Amino acid sequence: MDQKNNKQNLMDKITALCKRRGFIYPGSEIYGGLQGTWDYGPLGTLLKKNLKDIWWKDAVEKRDDMVGVDAAIMMHPKAWEASGHVEAFTDPLVECKICHERFRADEKEKVLEHIKTHDGKKVDWTNPQKFNLLVKAYLGVIEGKQSELYLRGEITNGAQVNFRNVLDSTRIKIPFGIAQIGKAFRNEITPGNFTFRSREFEQMETQYYIKPDKKEGEKWFEYWKDNRMNFYLSLGIKKENLRFREHREEEKAHYAIAATDIEYNAPFGWSEFMGIHNRGDWDLSRHQKYSGQKMTYKDEVAGEEYVPWDIETSAGVDRSILFLLIDSYEEDDPSTGSGQGKRVVLKLNPKLAPYKAAVFPLLANKEDLVKTAKDVYYSLKKDINGMVAFDARGNIGKRYYSQDEIGTPYCITVDFQTLEDETVTVRNRDTMKQERIKIEKLAEFLNPKID
Ligand code: ATP
Repeated sequence: MDQKNNKQNLMDKITALCKRRGFIYPGSEIYGGLQGTWDYGPLGTLLKKNLKDIWWKDAVEKRDDMVGVDAAIMMHPKAWEASGHVEAFTDPLVECKICHERFRADEKEKVLEHIKTHDGKKVDWTNPQKFNLLVKAYLGVIEGKQSELYLRGEITNGAQVNFRNVLDSTRIKIPFGIAQIGKAFRNEITPGNFTFRSREFEQMETQYYIKPDKKEGEKWFEYWKDNRMNFYLSLGIKKENLRFREHREEEKAHYAIAATDIEYNAPFGWSEFMGIHNRGDWDLSRHQKYSGQKMTYKDEVAGEEYVPWDIETSAGVDRSILFLLIDSYEEDDPSTGSGQGKRVVLKLNPKLAPYKAAVFPLLANKEDLVKTAKDVYYSLKKDINGMVAFDARGNIGKRYYSQDEIGTPYCITVDFQTLEDETVTVRNRDTMKQERIKIEKLAEFLNPKID
């Protein structure tokens, strides 16, 4: 099979695994689906929560120069005029004149693929038009008098409009940042590649406010590039699958002085994982102009007052989840293990794994084994941070493989020796090695690895 098919195959396998095991389902599936929307199932919800918690700990809790906000999704429409989104949040759209399907003019490969579907016929395209990605909504209770607004196209604006509120309600001093996690909505022309390009998605962002100065800007821009790259490496994403890509002048967003993406080597090609942008004073000065409210910072020590610059880091939660799944997916043939042929294993960082451990009785029909296993299960649920599973179905090999497939890092088996010496076997997902551990020491063994 050629490389392209292999890669497509991998995406198909991951999409199928996500549905089968409850990570991610197509949105509104029972009604035939809603393009560009996805619902997270029980395991996906846990994975997403773990990622967001780790991100928040890293970006906010462990620092002393960062605070959080959780701003409303619906904002005054003027905020989107101020930020330039009404005018410039566009993608170039072209339409096939034969079948009226629409594409992004800059996604050349998709355009070429579409031409092939017309079996050698000459395909004419409309001229590229600017297509605004903001999703409109209507608010109010009187039909015909509702006010039109936008669902936020990026979460940035909610932090920017609260710049003064944060300054006035905390004692924070520049340089400092505002972090936020939340939903964003875009009328994407071609949603696709599973969750990679969705119409509803979540972002994790930091806006870091600094003195308005070119050198300061360059220094903090480099700092945040390294900081974010190290964050993804710390999650266990393979180094060779990550790279920086600086934006060319013509592709920079309307606000950007400098812009670099961190890209991931996805099966569908190197793709944007997240962006680091030097937004200058674009947002604050525009909000100052449009709202008539001061958006300045007073440096009492230096006796200066200025509109700060903002170095932004903006990552997609859903893209991170997708890339983490791709990066951790392996099929191995553990011929030295329990000899059950190929296994699928998600080698997720244990801190991210939806379930941290699974507890099994060796045999489901031995009452004392089942009772002891249940006791271990309930005490672990209390003593470790994270979800624990219990499984007594089928044979032990099948249970291991079922947990491997969802990335559970440790499987604990209660066997006949347990009844004699209160030890259990703990099997490591990646090495498949087993060790015996006293039940009373289990939480102490697991907690540092999973939390
Ligand atoms: P792209 O070039 O892929 O359209 P973008 O440059 O428009 O992305 P930004 O506006 O910089 O993206 O958004 C920051 C991050 O939000 C992206 O790096 C990505 O992780 C995430 N993101 C943006 N659009 C989508 C989407 N349609 N679906 C899922 N995640 C998205």
